[in-house]
Amino acid sequence: MKYISTRGKAPKLAFDDVLLAGLARDGGLYLPETWPTFSKAEIAAMKDMSYTQVAVKVMAPFVEGAVSIEDLTRIVNDTYAVFEGDDPAPLVKLGENEYVLELFHGPTLAFKDYALQFLGRMFDHVLAKRGAKLTIAGATSGDTGSAAIEACRDRDAIEIFILHPAGKVSEVQRRQMTTVLSDNVHNIALRGNFDDCQNTVKALFADEPFRDAVHLSAVNSINWARIMAQVVYYFWAALKVGAPETPVSFAVPTGNFGNVFAGYVAKQMGLNINQFVVGSNANDILIRFIETGRMESKGVVETTSPSMDIQISSNFERFMFELLDRNASDLVALMDEFKTTGKFSVTPAFMNRLKTLVDGERFDDAATAKLIGDVYKQSGYLLDTHSAIGVGAARARRQNSAIPMVALATAHPAKFPDAVKAASGVHPALPEFLSDLYERKERSVTLDNSFDAVKGYIETTLKERAKL
Ligand SMILES: *Cc1c(COP(=O)(O)O)cnc(C)c1O
Repeated sequence: MKYISTRGKAPKLAFDDVLLAGLARDGGLYLPETWPTFSKAEIAAMKDMSYTQVAVKVMAPFVEGAVSIEDLTRIVNDTYAVFEGDDPAPLVKLGENEYVLELFHGPTLAFKDYALQFLGRMFDHVLAKRGAKLTIAGATSGDTGSAAIEACRDRDAIEIFILHPAGKVSEVQRRQMTTVLSDNVHNIALRGNFDDCQNTVKALFADEPFRDAVHLSAVNSINWARIMAQVVYYFWAALKVGAPETPVSFAVPTGNFGNVFAGYVAKQMGLNINQFVVGSNANDILIRFIETGRMESKGVVETTSPSMDIQISSNFERFMFELLDRNASDLVALMDEFKTTGKFSVTPAFMNRLKTLVDGERFDDAATAKLIGDVYKQSGYLLDTHSAIGVGAARARRQNSAIPMVALATAHPAKFPDAVKAASGVHPALPEFLSDLYERKERSVTLDNSFDAVKGYIETTLKERAKL
């Protein structure tokens, strides 16, 4: 399998090179040259498989030529062994033909674990084969940092540095990062805000001699390997509600559009998916686009669903490329327009096509809180703020109540205890394996908001670790 860039000017690469590259050299995102497909009989044969067996089956065509089936199987088994319970992605029935797919049984209680745990192990495997090492750097406002740290901890070929704004992340979020005491994990509390953290990381990447010397990389959401690992649970859920004989619809709380795009990939691979419904919070750039055909960025507002507080949906580029019949020059024209003017519009024909695939609905914080309260009263089921937006979008937009609708629950309610308590009256407890989080020892360094201080700390640390 070879991969091409959405912008059409980067070399075709194999899976292992795409994994390490992340973003393509022409600024585009990588996609498989063709979509592998499964026949109805092949999908039916997955019914008796475990989650890890389905994962190997679904991902094998994407890594073909770069990673052997034996290695893929080992990496998949290692990855999902760290998830709680026998089933990494349980399906819970809320009502008639209405389900919630719980994607929060990984180490940090959010769906990003399903992809990042896999990505960290895949990085380690590919790097070890090459005798290479990587330094991962990232900035976090709280949520993605812990998923990245958990994914990279104890990986021989990786050192990870995560910056968070000192005193400006919640205690759960800070502890989920700073209580990981692995030698290759380095938490930096920066005396500044989230933008300062992000700007410092950007400056590290812009410092070419430094970037090359330490082999700087990121684990951001545009990495193809993350999308690929997320395709698996669409198959898993569909099989449980009767695929391939029965069609299924999905509702997805959306930020960068990576999760929905993975569902679209499952559809391209032959899964009979009827509807995709996306939900957003007040940061509704995608919903506005679906309504008007105009993509236009506004400032970000803070909501009770912070993992969806985005200005633009970086993964939407892959979907646009598909809807443009993979015409890279048309895509580049739109992206250039967006870069210079902050907006672009598409043709009515494009929008008609988009509307056959996705529909969406927005929920502000009050509507989200009401959903949490209503679902708790009706079903006794406690949703987190992000998952509630998925369920709300499903209810608002479903076209056919005879088709099972699966809403993706992307975070455990205990990750956002204050908002969940305010909405439902119930304080969500952390799962057993994290119940001593508040007693665990923490480790981090606090640094001034200065590029030189951060760069110096990374260099010194890598030298001490004999990695530089
Ligand atoms: C990242 C995240 C989302 C948004 O997912 P995208 O793939 O960026 O659309 C939704 N919910 C939670 C809890 C998240 O962490």
